[in-house]
Amino acid sequence: MATMSAPVEQVLHMTGGDDETSYANNALITQKVMMRARPILEESIQKMYSTNLPMTCLKVADLGCSSGKNALLAVSNIIKIVDEMSDRLKVETPTFQIFLNDLFGNDFNSIFKSVPEFYERIKQDKAEKQHGTTCLINATPGSFYGTLFPSNSIHFFHSSYSLHYISQAPKWWSDEEAKLGDDEDNNIYVTSNSPPSYSEQFRKDFNLFVRSRSRELVLGGGMLLTFAGRYDTPQDITAPGLIRMILNNMVSQNLIEEARLAHFNVPFYTATENEVREIIKGEGSFSIERFESIKTSWDGSSLDEEGIESFEDDDERGEFVARYVRAIFEPLLKVHFGEGVMDELFLRFKNKVIQFLPKLVYNAFVISLVKIA
Ligand code: SAH
Repeated sequence: MATMSAPVEQVLHMTGGDDETSYANNALITQKVMMRARPILEESIQKMYSTNLPMTCLKVADLGCSSGKNALLAVSNIIKIVDEMSDRLKVETPTFQIFLNDLFGNDFNSIFKSVPEFYERIKQDKAEKQHGTTCLINATPGSFYGTLFPSNSIHFFHSSYSLHYISQAPKWWSDEEAKLGDDEDNNIYVTSNSPPSYSEQFRKDFNLFVRSRSRELVLGGGMLLTFAGRYDTPQDITAPGLIRMILNNMVSQNLIEEARLAHFNVPFYTATENEVREIIKGEGSFSIERFESIKTSWDGSSLDEEGIESFEDDDERGEFVARYVRAIFEPLLKVHFGEGVMDELFLRFKNKVIQFLPKLVYNAFVISLVKIA
């Protein structure tokens, strides 16, 4: 069983494989956010590319790639952007050396199995355009909170939906502090999203992240970071928060031992924009080119356009949300509470989602940085 201070890298990983419970099949929300962040990615790549020309080999790393389609989605977007830009500038497209990074427990094998098909796709694009695009995929397992690459070796870092995972989970709130529950009007209320130790852990981790990447990037290199950020409303409900609330209920109904819950902490923190800006400024070698927020409803519809997803009814909607949240958090929960309660937990989760859906909003920060010193 995981202890309170178990390093995240030993227990955290998305559900592998490609069946219907896998992360591979459940990464729709992050895909949507990636799509909406695409113009910022373009801008960011263009800037990096034009300041580093001429270039024979472009080295790009995707940090927290996970497994499944998304693992190569960012990479293929980046290749397309550089390819088009090279055509416009009438320079030769560089060879791409791509490093896929995630924690040691990640299902790298399933990515490797999709690499031949990926190479094939790139080759076909090449045939259409009659000039070569060579892409070489490498894997770099390990924590991005620390050194992953030699100094001055990478041109561009991309990271999608990973930096809200902190390296260790400090003790979560005590039940007293956890003012997260249903009141008599059936509203969820949250007075404290997470205790100060979480923000302290984030500060340490993110600072180490920024320092490590700064060392590894060439001057003029860029980063595009997308991760869950705080959405400041009194009802800022996170998926781990909602899971926590359900676990509390299950303890009170004797379905889960209280002692297990007391030692369960989720290594997840949503920072505020100010926290993030301060750490980047404090480190000192990056300029912040863009800092945007993208808001999405938990069912994947963006807040300004309604009903992108065609769900039959709320039940289907709830099912959809419960399925992808399960792919993300089940490995962590299973270690702690056992497989036996997972179905019940996520059934309850689904019902809570149906109950609160209009209030359930993700806020993703999209941050574009350039190394200037
Ligand atoms: N980039 C994908 C996956 C996001 S899931 C997408 O946008 O859909 C988040 C991933 O971050 C997980 O696979 C998790 O294992 C990884 N991760 C979390 N902490 C990490 C760390 N310290 N170092 C490397 N990867 C980490």
